[in-house]
Amino acid sequence: MIKLDAMENPYQWPDDMIQGWLEQIRAVEMNRYPDTQAVALANRIRAAGLIPVGNSLVFGNGSDELIQVIMLTVGGHGRKVLVPVPSFVMYEMIARFTDTEFVGIPLRDDFSLDAEAMISAVREHNPAVVILAYPNNPSGNLFDREAIVELISECNGLVVIDEAYHIFSKASFIDDLDQYDNVVVLRTLSKMGLAGIRLGYMTARREWLTQFEKVRLPFNINVLTQLTVEFALQHYRVFQEQAERICRERTRVERIMSSLDQITPYPSDANFVLFRCGECDAEEVFQGLLQHQILIKNLHRPGTALQNCLRATVGKTHENEAFLNALSLLVTSDYSLQ
Ligand SMILES: *Cc1c(COP(=O)(O)O)cnc(C)c1O
Repeated sequence: MIKLDAMENPYQWPDDMIQGWLEQIRAVEMNRYPDTQAVALANRIRAAGLIPVGNSLVFGNGSDELIQVIMLTVGGHGRKVLVPVPSFVMYEMIARFTDTEFVGIPLRDDFSLDAEAMISAVREHNPAVVILAYPNNPSGNLFDREAIVELISECNGLVVIDEAYHIFSKASFIDDLDQYDNVVVLRTLSKMGLAGIRLGYMTARREWLTQFEKVRLPFNINVLTQLTVEFALQHYRVFQEQAERICRERTRVERIMSSLDQITPYPSDANFVLFRCGECDAEEVFQGLLQHQILIKNLHRPGTALQNCLRATVGKTHENEAFLNALSLLVTSDYSLQ
């Protein structure tokens, strides 16, 4: 299978980087508990310029775990989490598991943020948390920054800006955190190329982080993850270059998709493209791609905003070629449509 379903970076590390990493792994003391604060790792993240130097961090086993930490801290019975929908599915699942009421506010038809609807929902529900994926998954777009700023000022509760695709979009609220007392920025290394290593981090004003630290399990980031990410971030340039390649490919993929009559791609600031099938049936296109050994994500749910929608992660050039060729075959040949 050509795997284009999970926003993974398709590129491997250069050989000399793998060698350097193996050397370091050799020396790891696996009989010892990991550093609960992951101090060296936090310093690496600062040194790579990913957060302002004065900021503290809370780490999670992927940002999924941090969403859980946030909801365990401020959610729970009688509390609400407000999210524009469609968005990242884990927000709703973790809300359920933590007994936090989930309130979904529809995005506009073009998947932009409906600022008025969000603000009136904030006034009505007084949510403990609002979560905004920036850029959004599965739509790929960045919400309007001024709309977000206005929303933040309307919220009594916490506003989480989930910047999982930061390396592709470049847009961030991380340098503005001192302007607000209720904003948390959430990041993950998964989409930039370390999905298997499971590391997410969040930063905010220290008062918030102190509370989240009470909920985080002390040894959630294992020694191999700490060391691997410390090592990887010394080579952050490699990941930036890979991300740039992915973004160039994304532009090409979007352009070719737009040229197909039956396909409407949505503009993306991430490493994937959401697209809607016109006359053709998304389910059939998805199955047809599978027969070509290409796996993307089927988001089609009848009667929802994602009706007839599919999502493709941007892969290597030859993978994208295979995907685009199969797609154009499927949407232009008569037999596949009937
Ligand atoms: C993929 C994704 C995550 C989860 O990432 P992990 O760190 O791998 O758990 C969080 N938020 C959004 C918006 C995502 O797309």
